[in-house]
Amino acid sequence: MSEQTKLDQLGVQVNGIASRQSATEKTMQVLTRQLTKAMNSLATLQERGAATTSEEGAATPEWLTMTDPQKAADVLVETWQWVGTVWLHHHPKLSPCWPLHPRVVEDLRAMRATWKAACDSPAAPALMTGWLVQARRPIIDGITEAMTHCDETRHRDATSLEHAVCFQLTDPPELTLMEVAEWWVTFRGAEGVPAPGLVQLDGVRSR
Ligand SMILES: [Zn+2]
Repeated sequence: MSEQTKLDQLGVQVNGIASRQSATEKTMQVLTRQLTKAMNSLATLQERGAATTSEEGAATPEWLTMTDPQKAADVLVETWQWVGTVWLHHHPKLSPCWPLHPRVVEDLRAMRATWKAACDSPAAPALMTGWLVQARRPIIDGITEAMTHCDETRHRDATSLEHAVCFQLTDPPELTLMEVAEWWVTFRGAEGVPAPGLVQLDGVRSR
């Protein structure tokens, strides 16, 4: 084989290598684009998942950590309506000052959520029986304990032994519940900050 022939063959091989390298680079570019696309899709799914979780969470938001006064008011009104139509049949001695007891609000929210889940489930009879037999009584006992110093006409919060006043819902009740919601998200039941909807025993409204 002549030197020229060898050079020609070497040139062909070099061109082949260069061609394959070019093809490899194109493949890498395609793969990179596909990978970027896949990562964007994953990020979108994660965002949708987070949004779904947030929306689901909004169905039963935690009262104790709530910071938005409008959402807090919506929660109170929703709970108040459920208490009036459902819970009072199970717990007729619930004092009307329950919106002023954060733990009680939380308990009632949980009871409403589990009651609705039982009603909406295909296994409703079994779940509702479980709600009635297992969930209801401990919650009633806990609420009764938390409101041991309260009755139909008097409320006493956990931070002050002297604070014993009436609780009144304005008409419409949503107005008072809005005030209670703002009080809760702002002051968190801090001592010395009386809740709205209260009337001192001497008849002077506290706020
Ligand atoms: Zn009370």
